Amino acid sequence: MELRIAGIVPESVVDGPGIRFVVFVQGCPHHCPGCHNPDTHDFNGGEVAQVSDLVAQIKALPPVRGVTISGGEPFCQGQACSTLAHEVKKLGKDVIVYSGYTYEQLREMAVGDHHIQALLSATEILIDGPFLQEQRDLNLPFRGSANQRLIKPGEEGFF
Ligand code: SF4
Repeated sequence: MELRIAGIVPESVVDGPGIRFVVFVQGCPHHCPGCHNPDTHDFNGGEVAQVSDLVAQIKALPPVRGVTISGGEPFCQGQACSTLAHEVKKLGKDVIVYSGYTYEQLREMAVGDHHIQALLSATEILIDGPFLQEQRDLNLPFRGSANQRLIKPGEEGFF
């Protein structure tokens, strides 16, 4: 299965707890003013990766505790990102997903899209909402602005 990506960071310590394999997906509809990754907005940019190749790379890195799927907007490629997330969980690693959508929006979207539901169900921690310049705060762990939340979808009892 193909996933359009902007790039990867095989071993990051700034995108969640522990050493993490980070996948920056390509394509984002939110266009937040002040976005730090504007090169990820174009849905035709980046490069095409195979999910199976990404999983093989992750498998070859035992120190990696988990995978962070960032963007771009992961939920715009729900099928490929949910496949990646479920394969990562089979390896015994955890999954963090960033989204410019709020959790409430994603729950509504999930009603009509089982790939979005599948990605939410595989997500240990969701960091939600757009980057808002007026709420920018560099002291927040793993977030850029104060409106963004760390949510555990699995503990909501919805999925
Ligand atoms: S959701 Fe993220 S990648 Fe997309 S525009 Fe906003 S800050 Fe940038």
